[in-house]
Parts: sequence; structure tokens; C-alpha cells
Amino acid sequence: MDTNKDRSKISDSKRIVIKIGTTSLTYDNGHVNLNRIGHLTRVICDLMNRGKEVILVTSGAIGIGVDKLKLSGRPATLSGKQAAAAVGQLMLMNIYERFFSEFSQTVAQVLLTKDVTDGAESRHNAINTFNELLAMGVVPIVNENDTVAVDEIKYGDNDYLSYIVAKLTDADLLIILSDIDGFYDKNPQQNKDAILLHTITDLSEEIEKNAGGSGTSLGTGGMLTKVHASRLAAASGIFAVIANGEKPEVIYDILDEKEVGTVFVPENKR
Ligand code: ADP
Repeated sequence: MDTNKDRSKISDSKRIVIKIGTTSLTYDNGHVNLNRIGHLTRVICDLMNRGKEVILVTSGAIGIGVDKLKLSGRPATLSGKQAAAAVGQLMLMNIYERFFSEFSQTVAQVLLTKDVTDGAESRHNAINTFNELLAMGVVPIVNENDTVAVDEIKYGDNDYLSYIVAKLTDADLLIILSDIDGFYDKNPQQNKDAILLHTITDLSEEIEKNAGGSGTSLGTGGMLTKVHASRLAAASGIFAVIANGEKPEVIYDILDEKEVGTVFVPENKR
């Protein structure tokens, strides 16, 4: 695979936010994909050994709660979703804790709502907590606090949350892992001739028009929210890459500046 000059500063990234979506964490039948989580946690531990700082933004609480409660699908009501999230979040963290502890990696749970990162004082506290955890060599595992978040205090989707976390922590790189190789010029589920876009330098809202919704019942934001979050990250000086989480080892390729996924290149890194 070719290296790409637009990616030439990615390998310098020290602080990395990795976001993984529900479709990457679960099988089509709704059960947890332990193999995937195992690979992801191993790569993150290895990056920590390399001297990187990693923050994981994870979805999956509602999906895993739905599976654990043996519900037929995502609950329609807000209270139903919040109950499923309360059950699923605990199970999700329990699974991460088990995998990370195999490599003696300490993890922390950080649950955020939009009002926390909107308010000056609470934002300041959140930044300090992230910095403290990273200085202690801990991997913060972040999710929206779905159990209490209602519309007024919601980020809306975890892609946007991952951008907020990357910006808040002054990260160098945001990696959004999904069930698809990256951002195509049109929805590849509906267009066989769709072309994967490797490099995005136009950070205007215009580029979002080619991104569609999710292809699965458990996925929520689709490509639109990923492109939106990546664009905002790059506009804030943070490299953003959308890549396929099927093999979490793709993170090594990204850091080796190989032409995988779609990279959004910040102006100051060109
Ligand atoms: P995740 O659970 O990883 O967040 P989503 O299902 O929400 O994943 O979003 C990824 C999906 O977005 C893809 O599988 C695809 O069906 C859909 N999609 C829509 N438009 C595009 C596009 N232009 N390029 C790539 N994927 C697209």
C-alpha cells in the first residue's frame, strides 16, 4: 500500500481518540462480538506500550442491553432505551475490564452528557479528569450517559461525542471505526459503483451531502454523523480517519500512514 503525503504527520500523533460503533461490537444476531473486542483492546494496550495515550469512545450499551434482556429489538420508548442502556453499559464495561486486565491495563469509565461539556466549570473539571487519568497511564472509556440523557442534554450520537472528546482533550488523532472501509462518494449499499474517498481536504459542510444513514437496525448515525464529526475534528486541527473496525489492527496501518480508510486532513498538518 502506498504512503500518502497528506498523512505524513499522522505517525507523530501522541494522544489518540478511538471510537467504535455498535455494529462493530455486535454480531448481526445482536450478541457481543468478543473476538472484535479482544483484538481492539490488545491493539490499544500495545499503543499504550508504545507511549501513546488512548481514549476509547464506545457505543453499544443499548444494543448489548437489548441482547442481555432478550428484547426483540431496540425499545421504542425513552425509558425503555434508558433501562436497556443501564443494563448494557455495565455489561459492556465488565467485558472491557476483563480484556484490558489480561494485559494489566487499568481502565476508567467516563460517562458524559452534553451539559457537562457545555458548561465552563464542568468542562474544565472533565478536562482535568481526562488529563489526570492519562497521566496515570489509564485508558478512559467514554460513552454518553444514556441512562439519564434526555434530548436537551444529548450529544445525539457517539460520532459527535468522539469529536467533542478529541477536542476537549486536545487529541492529535481521532479514529472512527465502523463496519465499512471509509467514506464513499455515495452510499455503497445502494450504489455498486461507489468509490472510496481516501483523502478529504475540503472541510466545508458541502461534503456531508454524499453521506447517508446507517445500513443496520442497531447502527444509529450512519456515515453522515461520522463525516460531520471528522470534518469538525479536522477543522479544529485534529487528524480524523474513518476506517473499517472489522480488523482493529487497521489502527497500526493508520499510524504507519498507509492509505487505509478516509483521512480528513487539518490545514495545519498539510
Ligand atoms: P456504526 O455502528 O459503526 O456507527 P453505522 O451503521 O451507523 O455504523 O454507519 C455506517 C454505515 O453508513 C455503512 O455501513 C453504510 O451502510 C452507511 N453509509 C451511508 N452513506 C455512506 C457513504 N457515503 N459511505 C460509506 N457508508 C455509507
